[in-house]
Amino acid sequence: MAELHARVLIAGGGTGGITLASWLRRLRPDLEVAVIEPSPFHDYQSGWVLVAGGFVDLASTRRQEAAVMPPGVRWIHGAVAAFDPDHDAVELADGRRLGYDVLVVALGLQLNWSAVRGLDACLGRHGVTSIYSRPLASYTRHCLETFQGGTAVFTHPATPIKCGGAPQKIMHLADQRFKARSGVGVRSRLLFCTAQPALFPVAAYSERMVAIAAERGEEVRYHHELVAVNGAERMATFRVAEPGQPEREEVIGFDLLHVVPPMAAPEVVARSPLAVNPEEGWVEVDPRTGQHPRYPHVFAIGDVGSFPTAKTAAAVRLQAPVVAANVLAVLEGRAPQPGYDGYSACPLITSDHSVMLLEFDYRQQPVSSFLVNPVKERWFTWLLERFGFPWIYWNRMLTGQPHEAAYLKPFEGIARRLGLMRWQNKPRH
Ligand code: FAD
Repeated sequence: MAELHARVLIAGGGTGGITLASWLRRLRPDLEVAVIEPSPFHDYQSGWVLVAGGFVDLASTRRQEAAVMPPGVRWIHGAVAAFDPDHDAVELADGRRLGYDVLVVALGLQLNWSAVRGLDACLGRHGVTSIYSRPLASYTRHCLETFQGGTAVFTHPATPIKCGGAPQKIMHLADQRFKARSGVGVRSRLLFCTAQPALFPVAAYSERMVAIAAERGEEVRYHHELVAVNGAERMATFRVAEPGQPEREEVIGFDLLHVVPPMAAPEVVARSPLAVNPEEGWVEVDPRTGQHPRYPHVFAIGDVGSFPTAKTAAAVRLQAPVVAANVLAVLEGRAPQPGYDGYSACPLITSDHSVMLLEFDYRQQPVSSFLVNPVKERWFTWLLERFGFPWIYWNRMLTGQPHEAAYLKPFEGIARRLGLMRWQNKPRH
């Protein structure tokens, strides 16, 4: 028997949990919503790249969790230790048991630093760093600013990751910083070692990314998975599994190593009945409604869901109104409606004045919220990334406001007639 009961219980008060809570309360101001979240802080994770690039300070990427909790929503301070969907209950690490009418899982994903041998021991030292950790964002900035030349290696793991473009963003920023110091003798070689067979899953973007790397002299190695790091000796070991070739190990010496660790569903989800299966631990969802196919009173939003698209805050932005409407539908005994088309986006920073805004959906085709060809680096998208998106995140997204593209939608017909949409093969809907 649960000690506490909520009409809607949201597990996780990060990007997805807070955005969804805001949507629910905006649509139904009297709805009882509770959010389980252990952290006293809320982070704008996309901002860590801007910290590393020296554009913003670290403090600007964090707010108190209490400050982002929507008015009227109950914050349950604690961490989920187990899901018991057969009894519509959740257990917390402190032993409390909570019941719900509808549960929304928004626990994000887990970074598995220790899956790379030796990495834990040298992170934040010997030039080994990562923008995927808040404290290391500042160390990354330090590394970029004090680099004395040599080989800089940037990795991308075999697993799905959040914001698939971020590993390249930091490389391009590093390249620009190093080249600016070539006049004082800084000579650099940049190596992008990815375990993937391509730079990005959407072919049109991937082709442009290959071209950008080639224009800059950044070397790309595919099928290279980082498996071990020796910080003191500055050696990184990669498992190389090229198609048709026997698997081998390659050791690469580095002066700077930027690591993106393997990522996975949080263990508490992976070992629960909510997971697709124990190996692929994401919460199983219908990709268009966010609803669990076996537990109709359970939904997921954000990185933790099995949505077959890239894991980003941008995806959360368009999942939230659909999941919110469907949560209300279930509470009222109606059938959930499909509405999420797999939209996801990642602003690929290519320099301190250009961004290619990678927007796409389940069709794996480029789409554009701004009615212009997205396969292009632009200054205005840089301004959006640097100034627009942080403001939008705190002031519009977390408060449950619709995506800005909704305001441009009526102009799509005109843009099409003017020939601005020629790059798009088919209309989106
Ligand atoms: P999170 O925001 O991570 O929230 C998960 C929450 O669950 C956290 O608050 C956590 O404390 C809580 N939690 C964890 N375990 C428990 C538990 N057991 N019980 C209760 N609560 C728990 N996205 C973009 O759209 N554009 C970008 O440019 C971009 N760049 C990025 C750059 C970097 C370096 C990083 C790290 C991410 C970037 N992202 C970007 C991705 C974006 O931040 C995530 O996709 C987004 O935050 C996902 O939201 P979420 O709610 O699923 O997870």
